[in-house]
Order: sequence, then structure tokens, then C-alpha cells
Amino acid sequence: MGLAEGSPLGPPSSRVGHLRRLRSRRGGTIAVRMLGTRTRRIRQARSLARPSLLARAAPPLCALAALAVLERAFPRRVRAEPTGPRARRNLAFACLGVVTNLALNRLLVLPVARVSVQRRFGLLQWLRLPFAVETALGMAWLDYTLYLWHDLSHRVGVLWRLHVVHHADRDMDVTTGLRFHFAELAASLPLRALVVGAFGVSPRAVDLWQSAIVVSSLFHHANLRLPARVERWLSLVLVTPHMHEIHHSESAADRNTNFSSGIALWDSLHGTRKDAPSEAVVIGLPASIQGDASTLHAMLVRPFAGAASTTK
Ligand SMILES: [Zn+2]
Repeated sequence: MGLAEGSPLGPPSSRVGHLRRLRSRRGGTIAVRMLGTRTRRIRQARSLARPSLLARAAPPLCALAALAVLERAFPRRVRAEPTGPRARRNLAFACLGVVTNLALNRLLVLPVARVSVQRRFGLLQWLRLPFAVETALGMAWLDYTLYLWHDLSHRVGVLWRLHVVHHADRDMDVTTGLRFHFAELAASLPLRALVVGAFGVSPRAVDLWQSAIVVSSLFHHANLRLPARVERWLSLVLVTPHMHEIHHSESAADRNTNFSSGIALWDSLHGTRKDAPSEAVVIGLPASIQGDASTLHAMLVRPFAGAASTTK
């Protein structure tokens, strides 16, 4: 039986050919590996890159300005309180909230997201999905866990004491979307760091979701009447002003529904979605738990002072 052509044990000319092919195969493997490493590095750089603070703040600021104009043109409800003092109180909450969010995101959430990408830790990092799919799933995961947190905030007494400040607003407009007690935000961020780490959410997805959820919050709190058909179709996908006004109802049966903050699907999946006529909704809290919502100081100390009634 003769030796096959190209075998390392064949004639010298054949051995040279074999060595050449081996080298080119190894070269190819090395080139593929280098390309893979390069692709991974580019992908990692995209996941880790953070837009400037201005670029992140621009969408919420533009949404705030646009919705404030639209609210005047197409109001949904008659206001219960003078706009000026209430808006100033809510914007003061917004300033404290922004500082709390920026600080704790930088200290807790983003370092975890960065390590997830760099060490390829967490479900999304293991799956190696296309960048856009991975980012979209990361954002959806953050949105879903916010739904769960919001539901818990209505069930657990200590969390309700923090969240009650948001519901004590007796009107609901674009500024209500920024009215969250800084302690509520501070309490939610360690948990967010955990869910980011477990799912392997990238800093890019965290940043995009943060901007998107603020825009969504401004939109669904807006005192804005949309055409009925637009409201109906849009609410199949996103939380709309009508869907969320039911959540701000004085009635506990209405208030403990519609917990979604971005994607409307979570309420449908968990059976917590509710529809009710706008005319039947009175915004705020019942007198027994309303408390003094007229000053910023009263609202800031409220979670740490009297007992806020639990609602479920
Ligand atoms: Zn709520």
C-alpha cells in the first residue's frame, strides 16, 4: 500500500506541500481567532461606551418641554391645585431624585454592568446574542423587574411608605412623572444592581433604559388627552396616560392595578391590567392616608414620620 500524496511520510516534495497546507491552515485558524477577538473587543467597547450626560439628559428634557406644551393644548383633567407651587414641589423632588440616581448608578449599578461585560458574566453575556438583541432584552428585563418592584411597593408596608409620596400628588401631570422620594430611588438601586449582574445587562442597555423609562414616566403621567383610537392601540404596547391614571386613583381597587412603567405587557401577563372610565377616576389618595401634600418638607419627612397605610 503506497503512502498517500501530501502525507508527512511521503516523498520530500509531497512533505513540503503538506507543511505549506498545515501552515496555511494554522494561519487561517489564527486569523479567525484574531478576527473573533477583534469582534469581541469591538462589541465589548460598544457595550461599555457611555454617551455624555448631555446626550443622556436630552431625550427626557425634550419630552418634558414637549409634553408641558401638549398638556396645555389637550388637557385630560381639570386641575385640583394651582399649577405653580405644585410643579415647583415636584421639580424639587426631581432634582433630589436625579442626584440620587446619578450617584447610586455610578456607585452600584454601572460597576456591576461593566464587570458583567468584561468578565462575560450573566445570562445575556453567556448567550452571545447579536448586540441589538442583547441590548433590547437587557432593557426589557430592567422594565420587567421595575414592574415587580412597583407591585411590591404597593404590597410591602415599608416600601409603600416610600412610594406613597408619589401617589399623594392630588393632580397628575408631566411633573408627577418625576415626583419620587429620593429614599424610594435609593432603596430600588441595590436591587437593580443585582438584577443587572444576574442577567448580564450592559452599561449601554442600562443607559438606554434609564433615558427611555424617564421619557415613558413623563408621558404616562401627562395630563394629556390622546385620541381614543391612538390611546387604545398604543396601550397594547406602552403605558399610556389613561392606563396610568387608573393606577393613580383614590380607589384601592384601581390603584393596585396597572403597575407597568414602560412596556404594558407585564400587567396583561400578571393579570393586573385594568380599564375604567376616566370620569370614574379621582386622582390622589383617600383622606385617611392622603396626609399633608401641600409642602415639600411634609412630603420629604413623611416616609420617616407617621405610619402610611398599606393598601393590599
Ligand atoms: Zn404606584
